[in-house]
Amino acid sequence: MNVHEYQAKQILEAHGVNVQRGEVAATSDEAEAIARQLNCQLYIVKAQIHAGGRGKGGGVKLAKSPEEVREHADAILGMQLVTPQTGPAGKLVRKVLVAEASDIERELYLGMVIDRTDSRLVLMGSEEGGVDIEEVAATRPEKILKQTIDPAIGLPAFQARQLAFDLNIPRELVNKAADLMIGLYNAFVDSDCSLAEINPLAITKTDDGQDIVALDAKLNFDDNALWEHEEIGAMRDPNEEDARELEAGKSGLSYISLDGNIGCMVNGAGLAMATMDLIQLHGGEPANFLDVGGGATTETVTHAFRLILADEKVQAVLVNIFGGIMQCDVIANGIIEAVKQVDLTVPLVVRLEGTNVELGKQILADSGLNLIAADGLSEAAQKAVQAVAN
Ligand code: GDP
Ligand code: MG
Repeated sequence: MNVHEYQAKQILEAHGVNVQRGEVAATSDEAEAIARQLNCQLYIVKAQIHAGGRGKGGGVKLAKSPEEVREHADAILGMQLVTPQTGPAGKLVRKVLVAEASDIERELYLGMVIDRTDSRLVLMGSEEGGVDIEEVAATRPEKILKQTIDPAIGLPAFQARQLAFDLNIPRELVNKAADLMIGLYNAFVDSDCSLAEINPLAITKTDDGQDIVALDAKLNFDDNALWEHEEIGAMRDPNEEDARELEAGKSGLSYISLDGNIGCMVNGAGLAMATMDLIQLHGGEPANFLDVGGGATTETVTHAFRLILADEKVQAVLVNIFGGIMQCDVIANGIIEAVKQVDLTVPLVVRLEGTNVELGKQILADSGLNLIAADGLSEAAQKAVQAVAN
């Protein structure tokens, strides 16, 4: 699950990370009122959508007065903001963050990720912050500095300070930067994050010297741990989530929407992964990951078909079911029933294996449905790829 920048900042601030003073607004009236309350020299108005690169798309604007804040909020609220991360359709902006703007001297990058190879959290920093960190990672990987964290110890101050020194953070700010890094680490662990990014982490000019501030924040959470964090679950913005994934979640299906054109209906996460791998191996692209679960009924299968077919990218459907707990004849009847209920206009490849498989195949063959039967996983994937190509 993702949250908006203003929500990520609330969580980080609660763990001692320095952020700008600011509030979120849904109307330009509110935006102006917040600016009056902040009462400062320079303001920043920022579109709140679940995507980065907002600056490039015109979703981040500086303002010199509350009136100007209102003008920018007026322009940004309701706009369909297109950034390098939203795709061409963009995202509708429903809220803006109005904050006291900082006078930036340098923009750094700070991130925390899970290194699955090492089974460790890694704190990453770069002096090339502000812009696309992916581009830095791809072309100048030496510009990304890392500290690997021992889970038995956590992030000790010396490691955080080491990264601060490596990033050439001014001496007077090193301890403050280290505290901020430790705050980021604590937020990550306490809230069961899967990714945390502060980009930019800015060295700013203040009346009495310099400061270090998180100007942007992105947090992703581990969905499997959300049951422990009611307050984070409450931050969910349904407008920002894939409608099909939300619906699938409600009906107990594990569904992840992907970019390809072969819809997959599979029981068991492992088999679903293997099916996607084989589709790719045969030159195709899966449109989704979908695990209907071990005890799929006609209703769940029908629901799953509806979900898959609601995706206009889908040009063929591959059903790959292993009848272990369930029997293949029951599954075959479920498929027939489901296909009758939904308007199936694309080729359907079915591979069944397991208990009563012969009976299941016979039922499908006798059904008169126009489906492509397959023996074996590889053949099924190949036939689905062919069906799309035709
Ligand atoms: P993103 O484009 O979605 O990543 O949004 P950011 O919050 O990172 O803002 C984009 C850019 O706007 C930053 O890299 C900064 O250059 C600029 N920016 C953000 N906050 C401030 C601020 O307080 N003062 C100034 N001068 N620029 C800012
Ligand atoms: Mg940013």
